[in-house]
Amino acid sequence: MRDIEDDAMAEGAVEVHCPWCGEPHTLEPDGSGGASQEYVEDCPVCCNPWLVKVRFTTSGPADVTLERAQ
Ligand SMILES: [Zn+2]
Repeated sequence: MRDIEDDAMAEGAVEVHCPWCGEPHTLEPDGSGGASQEYVEDCPVCCNPWLVKVRFTTSGPADVTLERAQ
């Protein structure tokens, strides 16, 4: 596991789509929580839970995947 330097961290918003209702949503991943993160967040539209998987890379934007949380 590598530390991500501030200047290497991808800044900015990532557009995702809710796996439940399909509505677009913008996430702004926070790199201070680690290079690889998983957390649960509720959809602001349909209130179903997302399992958000974020992986920061040293080049380019963060890789964000949403799955339906159980
Ligand atoms: Zn939704």
